[in-house]
Amino acid sequence: MQAATAIFARRLGHASVRLVDGAARPGAKILVSGGSRCNVTNAIVTARDYWGGRRTIVKRVLARLPVAQTIRFFDEIGVPLKEEPTAKLFPRSDRSRDVLDALLATARALEVTLSPSTRVHEVRREGRGFHLETSRGPLASRAVVLATGGLSLPKTGSDGGGLQMARALGHTVVPTTPALAPLLLDRVNASISGVAQDVELALRVDERQTERIRGPMLWTHFGVSGPAALDMSRHWLRARLEGRRGVVTVSLRPGDVFESVDREWSAATAQRPRVTLQKAMVETLPASVASALLGQLGVQGDTRLADLTRDSRRALSHALTALPLPIVDSRGYGYAEATAGGVALDEIDPASMESRRCAGLFLVGEMLDVDGRLGGFNFQWAWASGRTAAEGLARTLASHP
Ligand SMILES: Cc1cc2nc3c(=O)[nH]c(=O)nc-3n(C[C@H](O)[C@H](O)[C@H](O)COP(=O)(O)OP(=O)(O)OC[C@H]3O[C@@H](n4cnc5c(N)ncnc54)[C@H](O)[C@@H]3O)c2cc1C
Repeated sequence: MQAATAIFARRLGHASVRLVDGAARPGAKILVSGGSRCNVTNAIVTARDYWGGRRTIVKRVLARLPVAQTIRFFDEIGVPLKEEPTAKLFPRSDRSRDVLDALLATARALEVTLSPSTRVHEVRREGRGFHLETSRGPLASRAVVLATGGLSLPKTGSDGGGLQMARALGHTVVPTTPALAPLLLDRVNASISGVAQDVELALRVDERQTERIRGPMLWTHFGVSGPAALDMSRHWLRARLEGRRGVVTVSLRPGDVFESVDREWSAATAQRPRVTLQKAMVETLPASVASALLGQLGVQGDTRLADLTRDSRRALSHALTALPLPIVDSRGYGYAEATAGGVALDEIDPASMESRRCAGLFLVGEMLDVDGRLGGFNFQWAWASGRTAAEGLARTLASHP
């Protein structure tokens, strides 16, 4: 959804801008985003919040639209934002609809021509400009901004067709995987489905720890979801794509390690030998999770701490701090909030988002090899790359009118 790019371009004096979108109602992703509240951006955005292509490139693009300017932009178009304690920013109204309506209304007010239900099949370089084949006939244009998104939630219109067009125009597409997607587990325990808890996930790839992510996780009927699982998904999927073995473990005691938890159990056994395991465990865990864990370890919940064998105690401490999650896959693009991989970033000039492969072509947003973590970072990337492209367009067209 690049109404924002069109707005930036018109504001910078670009003579005529047409927004062509295959969807009958463009911006569907904005509507469903952030639980229909649209997490527009984040108070603190750095290149370290993103993965994919080189971070120096991401940093240069982000610098062209600092968060303060994003906030001002939305304020100007009538969508004041509020910051939540998590540092996420949402519209004060808590309605994603207001974000979309304001973007479309502003684009219209700036005389951007909106062409919904117009699927682009082909973009071809022709003469000094471009020829577009669309579902509503041919179009000619001096410059083109490709903003077709990645593959996440394809029913909203971003189904990877844009990546094919970028390829046909000479670009390399880094293989894609879902990102910010729920994870499917080999075994699920129905009794804990629906339970959310704070966890720390750790990924080991080829026996080396590569990522640690702390945050809420939701046990579901298919596996795991919630912020920590969503943020972990791209890392597990990238490891698999590269043919490497990724093992994710969950700590149900975030911040603790095996030794400290095991010491705690020893101390509890000495102080309260007659307390049952189940009772001791629910002091730090949801009761259903405690029962499920004990069941998996084959330990009875009514075992008194004094009767817990050393081996069982150590197995419990291990399970509490590094329980392997039997991940078999993600839930796929249909449930993913973003796409990892995409058009190779080093084929783009970060000062303008102009293609280094095809002059006059600009690429922005999720179709590039950049994916942000949960928290408003993907939209911030879309706004910042859109703003950069608008500046690039203005410069290119001024120098080659
Ligand atoms: C459920 C969900 C919730 C999310 N919540 C958040 C959030 O709260 N905060 C956040 O930062 N990010 C969120 N995201 C991610 C964010 O929505 C995307 O990163 C962002 O929308 C990407 O913008 P884009 O313009 O690059 O692509 P998109 O928003 O995907 O837009 C691409 C547009 O291109 C059109 N298109 C594609 N191919 C063609 C073609 N061949 N011809 C014509 N038109 C075409 C599509 O119809 C679509 O309108 C969420 C994503 C999902 C799926």
